[in-house]
Amino acid sequence: MLSFIRPAIAQLSAYKPHPGSITGDAASHSPVLDRLDTNESANDLPEELKQKLAQLYLHPLEANRYPDGSHHQLKEAIAQYVNESAQLTPESALSSAQICLGNGSDELIRSILMATCLGESAGILTANPTFSMYGILAQTLGIPVVTVDRDSQTFETDLQAAQHAIDSPRPPIRVVFMVHPNSPTGNPLTTQEIQWLEQLPPEILVVIDEAYFEFSQHTLVPELDRHPNWVILRTFSKAFRLASHRVGYAIGHPEFIEALEKVRLPYNLPTFSQLAALLVLQNRQPLLSAIDPLLQEREHLKERLNQISQLNVWPSAANFLYARLHSTAQLTHQEIGDRLKAQGTLIRHTGGGLRITIGNPDENQRTYQRLNSLFASVAIPN
Ligand SMILES: *Cc1c(COP(=O)(O)O)cnc(C)c1O
Repeated sequence: MLSFIRPAIAQLSAYKPHPGSITGDAASHSPVLDRLDTNESANDLPEELKQKLAQLYLHPLEANRYPDGSHHQLKEAIAQYVNESAQLTPESALSSAQICLGNGSDELIRSILMATCLGESAGILTANPTFSMYGILAQTLGIPVVTVDRDSQTFETDLQAAQHAIDSPRPPIRVVFMVHPNSPTGNPLTTQEIQWLEQLPPEILVVIDEAYFEFSQHTLVPELDRHPNWVILRTFSKAFRLASHRVGYAIGHPEFIEALEKVRLPYNLPTFSQLAALLVLQNRQPLLSAIDPLLQEREHLKERLNQISQLNVWPSAANFLYARLHSTAQLTHQEIGDRLKAQGTLIRHTGGGLRITIGNPDENQRTYQRLNSLFASVAIPN
């Protein structure tokens, strides 16, 4: 109705975040709410770390001062963590000049689009189903989005279609987005996919989103050296339990990192968020030790869900499972999502299937029981 709004924005439907609340009592209308729809950690920070963070808020944080806009200290700490977790030798180690920080990796995705495609009639390529923010943010900027499919069994990118998109003159593809392992399907990049990315020409940027690295332990960081046109995204929102603080980072060639620094807002990362990210990095051992038990829970839930004959659950390298109904199933994905929600379990209906975050053991147990009884209630006795 307001004619000054760009048509592309007026027609876009906004990303729907899940129904949280700032005090964390999202469960106020239901006794227990299992929030298994956004791949957060089920565990909050330990009380002891929250106490430390509260102390930091008292001192040295100065609420009246702008944040450190250089992010210097946090970049140093991240570079050290990345080098350690990718087992890079001192000669091949990354420096803080190869790190850019964002208000969540969502902000970095937008900065990448602004630094590469905006105003250039160049487009991006994604393989669906995948993380929806690439397409949504590109659309808000008027950047064309080309999508190709994935194999319906392995979820590997249709590389022939992807190459065809690269070879087509319109729109010229400037950025390829890949998630490693992919959301919602949970599969890491295969050797073939990686080889295909490696042979892309230097004028195409390859974004490898490693939001789930801490769960998969697969990283392409050691390859960055050989590929100045690659950039890796990571986040503190998943394994590091800081979704509320909005901290993500990009790792890449210093020249591209400099471009991202030019594009971002000067004070994009609040002081408290910088302090929180530093604190979890300093305490990473105890936080990351929760991952092994979570992976065991994931395997256990996968086995149990796969015993439900109408459901097909895929292997996952991340902190979630992806499932689809067999074609003969008596229910639709939408119905399952709605019925679980009515019982207090939120899962994500996306990409033609269901994505279920691994929660704490009680939540996982309820997920199994609720799904199992849903199917039992519609089963035709034979
Ligand atoms: C969760 C997620 C992110 C994280 O986004 P933040 O803005 O850092 O919270 C990025 N990419 C993918 C694929 C994700 O699933």
